[in-house]
Amino acid sequence: MSTRTITTEQGDITYELSIKRVKNINIRIHPDGSVHVSAARYMGMRAVDEAVRGRAAWIATHRAELTLSKPWMFAGQTIQLTERVGSPLRCHLENGALLLTTPPNATLEQKNAAIHIFYANALRAKLPELQALAAERGISARPRVKDMRSRWGSYSYKTASISLHARLAAFPEDLLIYVFMHELAHAKAPGQGHGPGFYKALAALLPDYAARRRELQRLGQATRWEL
Ligand SMILES: [Zn+2]
Repeated sequence: MSTRTITTEQGDITYELSIKRVKNINIRIHPDGSVHVSAARYMGMRAVDEAVRGRAAWIATHRAELTLSKPWMFAGQTIQLTERVGSPLRCHLENGALLLTTPPNATLEQKNAAIHIFYANALRAKLPELQALAAERGISARPRVKDMRSRWGSYSYKTASISLHARLAAFPEDLLIYVFMHELAHAKAPGQGHGPGFYKALAALLPDYAARRRELQRLGQATRWEL
């Protein structure tokens, strides 16, 4: 087996070449994106390079599809995201996988927006449940899904509302509840910031909050959110 690199219109392609008893040439892309070529001895290196170069567009497309299959998560389950050309642009669940329907001219930004809308809607469906949890604890707080940059949630004293990041729909419900309870603790301990009074309130609402917070940090780093 040898490693070869060729220059193509799609950029350099490095591939592993094995000389085998095959008819002409086989080109395969492994799940990690590496390119593996089996070629018959009689072909010669230059012809093999040419054949791989001729498939450069196909290799690029296939690799792009593979990047979509890196860890995505929904409701705590690892799932595949598949892209299919079609219209209108939208992301939905089909047979336990995320299907992203994209018109041919859709930009990456538009695709990400469609994925975002899918998660935001899924989280929105959970809000009545969360509101009931707050009511059970005698706290009135209106949960809502809001675009947030760097935080999972926030609490507004002014409107007694809790904003939640759409991406929380990706994680197990335990973690959504943790974020919600964190924000409820702010409602219970006004003016305390993240001081001792706040943590006392949080522990009363959710004794195992620390373990859930660690898990949220881990999953937040391990899962993909944007294409
Ligand atoms: Zn906080």
